Order: sequence, then structure tokens, then C-alpha cells
Amino acid sequence: MDEQKKLKRPRGEVRLIPGKCIACGARCQAECPADAITMNDAGEPIIDVQKCTRCRRCVKVCPASALEIYFTPEEQAILDEIARQKTTSGQPAEEPEKPVDPRKEKLKEYKGVWVFVEHYQGKAHQVSWELLGIGAELAKTRNVELCAVVIGHDVEHLCREAFTYGATKAYLIDDPVFRHYRTEPYYRAACNLVEKYKPEIFLVGATGLGRDFAGAVATYLKTGLTADCTGLAIDEEGNLLQTRPAFGGNIMATIVTEYTRPQMSTVRPHVMPMPEKNPSRTGKIIREKSPLQEEDILVKVLEIIEDQRTDEVDIAAAEIIVSGGRGMCNSENYRILQELADELGGVVACSRAAVEAGWMPVERQVGQTGKTVRPKIYIACGISGAIQHLVGMQDSDVIIAINQDREAPIFEVATFGIVGDLFEIVPAITRYVKQARTAKAAAG
Ligand code: FAD
Repeated sequence: MDEQKKLKRPRGEVRLIPGKCIACGARCQAECPADAITMNDAGEPIIDVQKCTRCRRCVKVCPASALEIYFTPEEQAILDEIARQKTTSGQPAEEPEKPVDPRKEKLKEYKGVWVFVEHYQGKAHQVSWELLGIGAELAKTRNVELCAVVIGHDVEHLCREAFTYGATKAYLIDDPVFRHYRTEPYYRAACNLVEKYKPEIFLVGATGLGRDFAGAVATYLKTGLTADCTGLAIDEEGNLLQTRPAFGGNIMATIVTEYTRPQMSTVRPHVMPMPEKNPSRTGKIIREKSPLQEEDILVKVLEIIEDQRTDEVDIAAAEIIVSGGRGMCNSENYRILQELADELGGVVACSRAAVEAGWMPVERQVGQTGKTVRPKIYIACGISGAIQHLVGMQDSDVIIAINQDREAPIFEVATFGIVGDLFEIVPAITRYVKQARTAKAAAG
């Protein structure tokens, strides 16, 4: 039998092809995971061959194809011989060695999807359970555990509630220090947990409290945080794909936290659907101590003053919304929307144009800079359907759009579209609902 000598594949060296660098602004240096590239005064790369891992990222990123993997004539002869041996033995051509990216190696230690359970005086914010719903999907795709993070005082019941919404484990830090939310103790406690248990994904509600908390945690951990995500998924490499509106809502951007963990996202209330509650589900509670004592904390809560000014109507919780835009023409005309909402047992909301015109309070605004709603029925009256409005209501179960412009983008997301004058159509619907109700009552 013809014994072939096993040859070691040479790795070559990255080198600059003279005269080809266009001094693009050090893209190769930025891309190098091994810090093996410095730039000279002419803006050309100098490669430290000792540090270089031959990952080829610089070669790929160079816009001028000015970098190559160079093999000496002896190394090239070995490569040719390896190729010849493969051909004569009938084996398929050897796959090039997969480069190891040192920045990604350490990420393998991180496992599990975590959800921060936000609460006020021991009552959970609904967004926490919505996050457990999407968190369960992510955990299933990654084949990892779904865990709740509960920080507070006398809040063990929230761990048990989290299990009913799908968590299988809860990390609990229960201490009087956490009676009221304060940034420092909360983020320090959460960061301690992250450093000890290393989750790969950490989801937080995009509420006032959640934004403050998530920002502090991500800053301390030096990891990426994508705010106000409207979509979360996992890519083929296992990274979290975080989708959110960008550039004023004109495009949807998908953001990946490639080199740090945990991957952190905030999601607004009502963006994700509520998971089903199953009271029979249980899980494991991991208790941890507070890393801080009261005397370590500079900020003290002296008194809680409830906000008296807030609009009593919570459009985010409504099941039926009748919403008006610039097409309403003035604030008095909102009366016809209120009449319809009253008939249907719903509430009135609006577009930003209506808020800017001073016709409606900001608490009623739906959209990117307003509230996200997910009602059973959303009736859009005189609203064109700008993307910034759509991101706040497009997940409604049924969308009815009334607009005199048949080309209005609102019709693209509408379940039912009515082209016409809202001042005729809305009162007609109200009359119809009223008559139908009266007829039903008369029929017994
Ligand atoms: P218009 O676009 O002027 O549409 C009015 C519609 O009424 C038209 O389609 C017209 O055909 C129809 N109409 C007029 N008269 C009648 C009638 N008699 N009968 C039937 N139809 C009629 N917008 C939001 O809503 N929410 C946000 O959170 C938000 N955030 C934003 C954030 C940023 C960074 C930016 C840049 C913009 C944001 N906007 C937001 C503004 C958004 O871009 C639009 O300008 C706004 O949504 C338009 O409101 P509208 O549809 O009421 O008005």
C-alpha cells in the first residue's frame, strides 16, 4: 500500500500587498480580534505576526483587497502536495481551517435567558410576564433555561408567579434595602447575579424603571443593550437578533451583540403577547444575599408621591380603541369618537399629529414616542399610517381604518378598510351599534 506522509498544513502570514492600501480609515485594525494590527502615519496596517491568529477578518474587510495570506514558496509547495494527495486518494478537498475568534470563545460560558421581574409594592408589571412569553421561545430555540430575576422586599410570591408564566428558575434577592426601587442597589444586585451565573440573554421591560435599570446594568457589565425592541429572535449562530425602529422609525434595524454577554434588550409593554398562565407550574428558587447594606447607599427614599396628573384612561390596557388623527380637524370633533367608543365600551386615543395640534393629551398618543397598544379592535379615523404610528398599534387583533385617501398606508395593515369621509362614517357606525344593541335588548 502506498503510505503517504502526513503533511502539516502551513498557516501562512497576513501581509499588505504593496501599493494597494487606500488608507480607508483602519477598518482592518478595527476588525482584528487579536489586536495584531497597528497603523503607520500613512494609514497603512502593520501586522504583528506573533499576535495574528490568521482569522482572515482583515483580509475580508479590506475594501481595496490590499491584504492577503502569503505563503512562502516552500509552504506553497506543501499546499500543492496536500492538494495532490487529496486528489489521488479520491478524498474531497480539505476544508480550510475554521479560524477561532478569541472574542467569541469566552461567550460560551454564558447560558440561559433571564427576565427582570419589575414590580411596584410587590405587584408585578405585566410587561415582565410578556417578556417571559418571548423569553420562553428564545430559551427553547437555544435549548437553555428560562429564569426570572426578582429583586425586592417580601417578593418571594413573584418567583412563584413567574413560574406560572413559564420560568423554570428564579433568582431571588429579598432584602429591606430593595423595598423601593433605587438605581444603585438594584443594578449592583443584578450585576452580582450576572457575574455569578452568566446568562446569555437578559430582558427588561422598557418602562421608566426598566430603562433606568437596564442602562445601569449594561454600562456596569460593558455589554450591549438594545432599547425598545419590537422583535426578538435567534440567528443560526445562536446570537440574539434584536429588531427595533431606527432613523426616526423609517427603517427597522436588527442589532446583534456579537462579542459581549449578556445580550440585553428592553421591550415596551404590550409589544409581546401575554403568555398563558398555568398555575400548576413550579420551579426552583435560588436565593442570594444583597451585596449592599443600607448604610452603603447614598440615595434615600423619603416619601412616595403618587402622580395626580396622569390621565385616568389607560389606553395600553384597553380592549377597544377608537383613535383619531389630523383628519379630525379639531379637538371638538373627538366627541364623535368618544360617542363610538362609549357604545363599544372602548377608549379614545390619537396620533402624534393630534397631540402636537393640542387636541388630545400626550397620554392618549399611540406610536413610537407614545404608547404601544394591542387591543382586540383598533379603529383608526383620519390617521394616515406613518411608520411611527404603526409600530404602536400594528399588533392589534383587528384594525379598522377609515380614511378618505385610498392610498393611505394605514390600509396596508388594516383588517378592514373604509374609504370615505370619517364625519359621515363614524356617526353611521355609532348609530348602527346603538340600533343593534336596542334591537338585541328588545329581543330579550
Ligand atoms: P396625517 O399624516 O396628516 O394624516 C391625516 C390623514 O387623515 C390623512 O391620511 C387624510 O387622508 C385623512 N383624512 C383627512 N380628513 C379626513 C376625513 N374627513 N375623513 C377621512 N380621512 C381623512 N406619530 C404618531 O402617531 N405616534 C408617534 O408616536 C410618533 N412618533 C414619532 C417619532 C418621530 C421621531 C417622528 C419623526 C415622528 C413621529 N410621529 C409619530 C409622527 C408621524 O411621522 C406622523 O407625522 C403622524 O403619525 C401623522 O399623524 P396623522 O396620521 O394623524 O396625520
